[in-house]
Amino acid sequence: MKQNILIATDLDRTLIANGPQPESPRARPLFDRIVARPEVHLAYVTGRDLQLVREAMKTFSLPKPDYIVSDVGTAIWCWQGSDWQRISKWDVLIAPGWMGFDGPALADWLRGVRGIEIQEPVRQGRFKLSYYRDDTVAPRQIVGEITAILQARGLHVQVIYSEDETTGDRFLDVLPGKAGKLGAVRFLMEWGRFAPERVMFSGDSGNDLDVLGSPIQSVLVANAIDQVRQDAVALSRDNGCPSALYLARGKYGMNGCYAAGILEGLANFIPDAELLAMIEEKGGR
Ligand SMILES: [Mg+2]
Repeated sequence: MKQNILIATDLDRTLIANGPQPESPRARPLFDRIVARPEVHLAYVTGRDLQLVREAMKTFSLPKPDYIVSDVGTAIWCWQGSDWQRISKWDVLIAPGWMGFDGPALADWLRGVRGIEIQEPVRQGRFKLSYYRDDTVAPRQIVGEITAILQARGLHVQVIYSEDETTGDRFLDVLPGKAGKLGAVRFLMEWGRFAPERVMFSGDSGNDLDVLGSPIQSVLVANAIDQVRQDAVALSRDNGCPSALYLARGKYGMNGCYAAGILEGLANFIPDAELLAMIEEKGGR
C-alpha cells in the first residue's frame, strides 16, 4: 500500500489554463490520470466560492477533488454522500480572529481607507471581506492601515492582495488571522493525516504566496508573473525553506505552465517510480 499523496492546487492560471500562455497538450490528460490513482488525493485551493468552483469544474472538465478550499482559505469542504459538506471544525478554528463580527461590520470600520473599493455582495464570504484595489496607494501601505484599524478593535486578521494579470484587476481580501491558503492546507494535512513529504501545493499568484513561501513543498507554475516569482523566492528564503519551493521551467517535453508545472513539481518533490514513469513518458519529444 503506497503512502497517500496530497496535491493541493490553486485553480485559475494554475490548474486552469485561463491565461495568455498556451497549455501543453499532454499536461491535463496526464494530470487527470495521475490524480485518478488511488494513492493520490486532490484538493482545490482557490479564491473562488463553492458555486464558482462547481462552475469551473464543469466548464474546464476538472477532475472531482477530495477537498475544496474555497474563498481564499476561509471555507473547507469535503465530499460527503451526495454533496459538498462544509467542515465546521475549520470555521470554529478561524472564527475567533473576527471576534464574532461579520464582514459588513469590518467594512464599516474600514470606510476611510484609501485605494480600495468593496466588491459586490455576491463576492463576499462568511469570513472573507473582499475589495478591489486601485494603484494609487501601495498595497503594503493599505495592508498596514487595515491591520492597524482592526487590531485596535481587538481583531486578528490577515490581509492578502493579489492581481489578475489577464484582466488587470487588483484584489484585496481581509480574512481571520488563522485562515488563508496556508492555514487551510495545514489543516487538511492534519485532517487527512498526510505526511509533509507526501504533500505538494501549486500556485501562480499573490494569494498563493503564503503557501509558496512556507515549508510546504510547493511549485510555482512557469506562467506566473515575475513579481510573484521574486516574492515567492524571497519569502521562502526569509522563512529558511528555499528547497521547499520549486520553480517550474518546462521539462518532460512540456512548457511548465499550468498542469505541466504541477506535474513538473510533483516529479521533483514526490518522485515515486510509477508517477515518474507516467510523467517522463515521451519526455523531451
Ligand atoms: Mg491563480
